[in-house]
Amino acid sequence: MDDKLMLMIPGPTPVPEQVLLAMAKHPIGHRSGDFSKIIAEVTEGLQWLHQTQNDVLILAASGTGAMEAGIINFLSPGDRVLVGSNGKFGERWALLCEAFGLSVERVTAEWGKPLDPAQFQTLLAADTAKQIKAVIVTHSETSTGVLNDLKTISQSVKSHGALMLVDAVTSLGATSVPMDDWGLDMIASGSQKGFMLPPGLGFVAVSPKAWEAYSQAKLPRFYLDLGKYRKEAAKNSHPFTPPVNMFFGLQVALKMMQAEGLENIFARHHRHMTATRAAMKALNLPLFTSDQASSPAITAVAPVNVEAEQIRAIVRKKFDIVMAGGQDHLSGKIFRVGHLGFVSDRDILTAVGALEAVLQELNYEVTAGAGVVAAAQALSA
Ligand SMILES: *Cc1c(COP(=O)(O)O)cnc(C)c1O
Repeated sequence: MDDKLMLMIPGPTPVPEQVLLAMAKHPIGHRSGDFSKIIAEVTEGLQWLHQTQNDVLILAASGTGAMEAGIINFLSPGDRVLVGSNGKFGERWALLCEAFGLSVERVTAEWGKPLDPAQFQTLLAADTAKQIKAVIVTHSETSTGVLNDLKTISQSVKSHGALMLVDAVTSLGATSVPMDDWGLDMIASGSQKGFMLPPGLGFVAVSPKAWEAYSQAKLPRFYLDLGKYRKEAAKNSHPFTPPVNMFFGLQVALKMMQAEGLENIFARHHRHMTATRAAMKALNLPLFTSDQASSPAITAVAPVNVEAEQIRAIVRKKFDIVMAGGQDHLSGKIFRVGHLGFVSDRDILTAVGALEAVLQELNYEVTAGAGVVAAAQALSA
């Protein structure tokens, strides 16, 4: 049915009508006083979301552009870095660092399992010569639905002295990422995930310690030179022509988030994760991650005796609900339900109900209604 498409993928995520309407306006001049006011307001909102006093800079880029900025501004060719790799996005960090000539050491875990903080601790403790310049971790590994233990990893990094660089693309706005409390030095994210916006903006938060590294860093940079963004941001301005309509949307989205409150936002995502997981268990659909390491943004399911891709195709065709498939070697093995950003309890019940109807159609053994009952119970707990 036209106009009924429901995105339950981990980005792009659904966008509230208020945000869409705010964006459906004539652009204004990016050097105008009106635009300066918007920059000032959204910058404050972004600091609130990152729980930080640090700079949070806004780029016209997808999340990967923010990640790239987070590397090239703070490191130099040949620098040794530890990169957590337990999924597609952790591996993206490793490839990105290799592309810029860094000396990458991967700390790996099987896809679907969390990174082991003790492995980082051991490597950092052994590095008495302080050759490790940065530790780079994906907080919520979107490809598998794993939430890595960033807090514990960052404690070891802090006592070592290396920079802690983080992809929080699907954790920011879904769970607490207290930049200052945890001593994170750089956080990269993108608008189409927890921000309730379309794709188009990347965000990079930078600690004072990372700015010190910036002044020594020797990788080439121009468009993504964060010093330019910092200098202009101090005057509520932007070094280039930013997508001004995205800023209109960001202004409204942040207002909505502030009205809901951080604790309520995190509680909502946690509730949706719990309800989705309870429903999958009730439907005999094996979860791909453990309860202890599951991301509040996304639930990955590894069905047996029924094809993941067949489930996805029918959910899409009959119910206009888009769920994500598996990436790389997980293609065809898992499907992923995104519950990130502008998602309500009603959406979770709808998705679970649709999934249940599809399983019945495929003659998969389920107790009729079990998924919806389990989800409803979890939502009302
Ligand atoms: C979506 C995503 C990104 C960024 O992807 P883009 O397509 O460049 O926006 C990076 N990391 C994670 C964990 C993601 O989920």
